[in-house]
Amino acid sequence: MPPAIDAAPPRRVPCDNSPMSDPHRLAPSTLAAHAGGGIDPITGAIVPAFQPSTTYARNPDYALIGPADYTRDGNPTYPPAERLLAQLEGGAEAMLYASGMAAATAVFRALCRRGDHVVAPLAQYWGLRNWLRRFGAEHGIEVELVECAAPAGTDALVKAIRPGKTRLVWLETPANPTWDVVDIAAAAHAAHAAGAILAVDSTAATPVFSRPIELGADLVMHSATKYLNGHSDVLAGALVTAKLDDAWAALHVQRRSEGAVLGAFEAWLLLRGMRTLYARVERQAATAADLAARLEQRRDVRVLYPGLASHPGHAVAARQMHGGFGAMMSVRLNAGRAAALAVCARLGVFARATSLGGVESLVEHRHSVEGADTPTPDDLLRLSIGLEHPDDLWRDLAGALDAVGR
Ligand SMILES: *Cc1c(COP(=O)(O)O)cnc(C)c1O
Repeated sequence: MPPAIDAAPPRRVPCDNSPMSDPHRLAPSTLAAHAGGGIDPITGAIVPAFQPSTTYARNPDYALIGPADYTRDGNPTYPPAERLLAQLEGGAEAMLYASGMAAATAVFRALCRRGDHVVAPLAQYWGLRNWLRRFGAEHGIEVELVECAAPAGTDALVKAIRPGKTRLVWLETPANPTWDVVDIAAAAHAAHAAGAILAVDSTAATPVFSRPIELGADLVMHSATKYLNGHSDVLAGALVTAKLDDAWAALHVQRRSEGAVLGAFEAWLLLRGMRTLYARVERQAATAADLAARLEQRRDVRVLYPGLASHPGHAVAARQMHGGFGAMMSVRLNAGRAAALAVCARLGVFARATSLGGVESLVEHRHSVEGADTPTPDDLLRLSIGLEHPDDLWRDLAGALDAVGR
């Protein structure tokens, strides 16, 4: 009989004398490039291992051989990706989910009870806004949707938070699809004074440009489908917590029991995507800033991009974002809906498709997708800027706008 292995397999370790042994000394981009650091102590592998097994054996004493038991409770492929994301966000721990929606809805389902009051922005990812309305109605939770775009909306946001009554404040910044900026520090202050938890959907900002936990957020949520993975080939979500508190413990229990876990291969792909996060997103945001500046010179569009001084949220964005303003923008066509759709039809480098954050640029007429009752204007085109050469993207945009304007 082979000897029973009863020790947990050692985790990836830094080489002797490696600066990777002290992650606090290293920039997040270095940690990302090294997939969180360390090498596999058994094989010397540079790349973290992928483990597809759903179930994990026990020794004759019926003790688990390794740290894993059953993959709904945890898979050895998760911790490297979860640890890296927690480090990038400056959080205590992260958890991966089957999608961004699975991560977002987990927060409300695990933490809100009948009679609770929830504050959330009116301008936010439409899928979550629609779900929240239904969820609130079905569970007797009062969901208050507030116009909270900074600077004008900060007061309304703070006033909506009720001491002793508000359980959760949810923010998204910059917010889909107008890229409203919400003041995270002001919201954190008001939420904590009222005894509420602050959660921030930071999908568009990415940890490259914004670290909501440093501004007081308790939870950060990502649709990892977008920039974190970055290649439009993985559906995934993530939560990061500032501290290991009761709320986080409840989220652990909920993910284990309800099972909205990420597939192991998706977790492995996500970690691979995160290794290039900084290079991708910095370049994408630089291209976005360049295109936004060029578009702003035109008379036929209005550009919504928080990096432009003309954006109402620019000052707050400049305070709470560092190194860039993201790579999402929208343009509103002065000539209206038909012109917006005609421009969309003429674009060739931009693909007409939903989603964002991939290496390829995408254009979307959100109003067509969201339906008649959406607050999204029908003259708006949402642009997700990819890694193409900026001149190719500019020629595509300017050519389509010129052709439609003639
Ligand atoms: C895409 C998206 C979501 C939903 O994430 P999925 O991975 O599609 O479930 C939530 N918030 C924002 C800002 C998004 O862009």
